[in-house]
Amino acid sequence: MSDISHTLFTPGPTKVPDVVLQAIARPPLHHRSDEFRELITRVSGHLQYLFQTTGPVLVLTCSGTGAMEATFVNLFSSGERVLVISNGKFSDRWVQMPGIFGLDVVEIKLDWGKSPTSSLMRNVLLAHSDVSAVYLTHCETSTGATTDIKTLSRIVHDNSDALVCVDGVSSVGALEFRFDAWGIDVAVTASQKALMCPPGLACVALSDRALRKIKSSDLPKYYLNLSEALSAHDHGSTPWTPAVSLVAGLDAALAMIRNEEITNVWNRHRTIGTLTRQGIVQAGFKIFPECPSDSVTVASVPSSVLTNNFLNKLKTEKGMILGRGQGKFKDKLIRVGHMGYYFREDINALLNAITAVLLE
Ligand code: PMP
Repeated sequence: MSDISHTLFTPGPTKVPDVVLQAIARPPLHHRSDEFRELITRVSGHLQYLFQTTGPVLVLTCSGTGAMEATFVNLFSSGERVLVISNGKFSDRWVQMPGIFGLDVVEIKLDWGKSPTSSLMRNVLLAHSDVSAVYLTHCETSTGATTDIKTLSRIVHDNSDALVCVDGVSSVGALEFRFDAWGIDVAVTASQKALMCPPGLACVALSDRALRKIKSSDLPKYYLNLSEALSAHDHGSTPWTPAVSLVAGLDAALAMIRNEEITNVWNRHRTIGTLTRQGIVQAGFKIFPECPSDSVTVASVPSSVLTNNFLNKLKTEKGMILGRGQGKFKDKLIRVGHMGYYFREDINALLNAITAVLLE
């Protein structure tokens, strides 16, 4: 059923399994029907399992950026200060956004490819223990760098009252992620990544502390009002018309994850992440980040490789689409997405194709 002429190895959108496509293709449910209430309630339960939380996980009809915006405008009040560790294109976005809504931002800027260490986090909090939140990006998709959320979250809680807010867009459903056990307050992901769905939905998980904070926020919001979304969520509903067909697809995708079991899903990503990195190094490329993610592999390539149409040849001759670098690394990096519906065979096929194209 899926278009097999091209296989996506991009870090989002990712490959969508046929059962998910079939679920999306069914006639749409009415969003105020009992059938949809049943569907979204089941999806909420699946999402709690995915995030490993007993708290609410909201489904929003928007992409990951919309969900991140929702965290800023719903949790804080004008003039509050948030701290963002930025080490790439997406975390840079979380530096730009809060100022637009009247929040103060403390930016801790790292070079692309670096990840924040425990000592950096401790030192930063010594100087900024008054911040209302610390924003961390679990996997910075532009560089393939991971952040140790478990350790840094503990450091934040030990040294401040700040909320721990995590961009889990390219990690949740691929990398080990334990919302409750790691003391995370807010986490966000999007459907087109490890959730094996097309783009269009985002999910936001909230702790009790985050829920309390939402009650006092005074920033303007309408479509992305999480208080409205939470009241509707209590009744198996959403405030506005949701992308019902994508919710049906998400239900099918999350059922697959539940069937496989989340720890097996994390282990599978660990295996294919290692395999990809080994193959990429064997092909003569250099892994870019210091702490590489098992969901996306980013490698420096000689500029002659990209100018010689390497990515185009992989697409036209082998039917495989990879990502290239972003921003200042556009012509220096390749990015291979392998989060979601990817297995050892997919990676072997990709590595064989890369070798063949390079040999040419
Ligand atoms: N955060 C990360 C880590 C991402 O990889 C992306 C998308 N690539 C985003 C945020 C933004 O998500 P979206 O494109 O769904 O708005």
